[in-house]
Amino acid sequence: MQLLRSGDPNTRIHELSPTQILDLKGFPSYLLGSSAKIEKSKEIGVLSRVLYFTPGIFCSAADTGCLLACLGHTSGRMGLPDSFTARDKRSAFFLKHEDAFIERLKAEIHLLKADSLLHGLRPAVRLNGSSDLAWERRFPEVFQQFPDVEFYDYTKIFPRAMQALGARPSSVPWPENYRLTYSAGSDDRLARQVLESGGTVAVVFHPNIPSSWLGAQVLDGDVHDVRYLDPGGSVVGLKAKGIAKVDVTGFTRRPCPDCGPEHELQFLLGIRRDGTVRTKHSCDRCRSELEASIRDPYRNRLLPDQSAHQGMGL
Ligand code: SF4
Repeated sequence: MQLLRSGDPNTRIHELSPTQILDLKGFPSYLLGSSAKIEKSKEIGVLSRVLYFTPGIFCSAADTGCLLACLGHTSGRMGLPDSFTARDKRSAFFLKHEDAFIERLKAEIHLLKADSLLHGLRPAVRLNGSSDLAWERRFPEVFQQFPDVEFYDYTKIFPRAMQALGARPSSVPWPENYRLTYSAGSDDRLARQVLESGGTVAVVFHPNIPSSWLGAQVLDGDVHDVRYLDPGGSVVGLKAKGIAKVDVTGFTRRPCPDCGPEHELQFLLGIRRDGTVRTKHSCDRCRSELEASIRDPYRNRLLPDQSAHQGMGL
């Protein structure tokens, strides 16, 4: 399988072969993990688990903004050595021993089912916690073997999102127990098509989640992670965290606080990096301004589309 680029500053997946990673670090102790937000799912009766690979390397539609801001390496404890090493080990295990990986994954889903029975909860699995693999194509037996488990994922691959809705032809039948949420990129027309086809669209907002976007109701996607319960035709609003707050690629949307959710702050006045990354955006209609800053996790490794703005206006 071709390895794509990663925005994770700590991964060693491009320096070492899968064999070297497994020899140096060993095999992962588990495949399905959790997170603070995943744990919130228990409050609505769902026991959910998530598979985290090295972010980006299996994401064919990832762009600069999402690679840098991916929650798979920026959120919570994801930047700690145990976490990034575990993601590399899982990725190496998958690349080197695919059959054994899938058998291990199925065993962990069986364990999840047992745990959910014990606690009176419904089992659910996110296979693409930090990847965008077409599981329905490559491993359809995983869905068939667990018809009583709900599978759900975000995807940045527009045709996949439409196939999941039956709005585009697919050469494989879509699993009934697999639901996708489309992660909006910079092209609003694609997001609109998904919404009009009855799908759901995830959007990262800063500084606040608006009540509507593209005319659709926006749900607070930070309340829990059980995306397959979201009503079709709605937007899942996620509050920008970490580097997403200073995104300049269009990954993060900034509804104008004065002109309303349908008008976004698009006009970047400046970005400066001096140990911190600072951005300033302005509304081209009412001139409202919005500043953001975070400590620079990339230590001045400038991206091409950011360097053009360095030092302007700040
Ligand atoms: S496509 Fe999703 S999982 Fe992959 S790098 Fe982008 S945000 Fe992360």
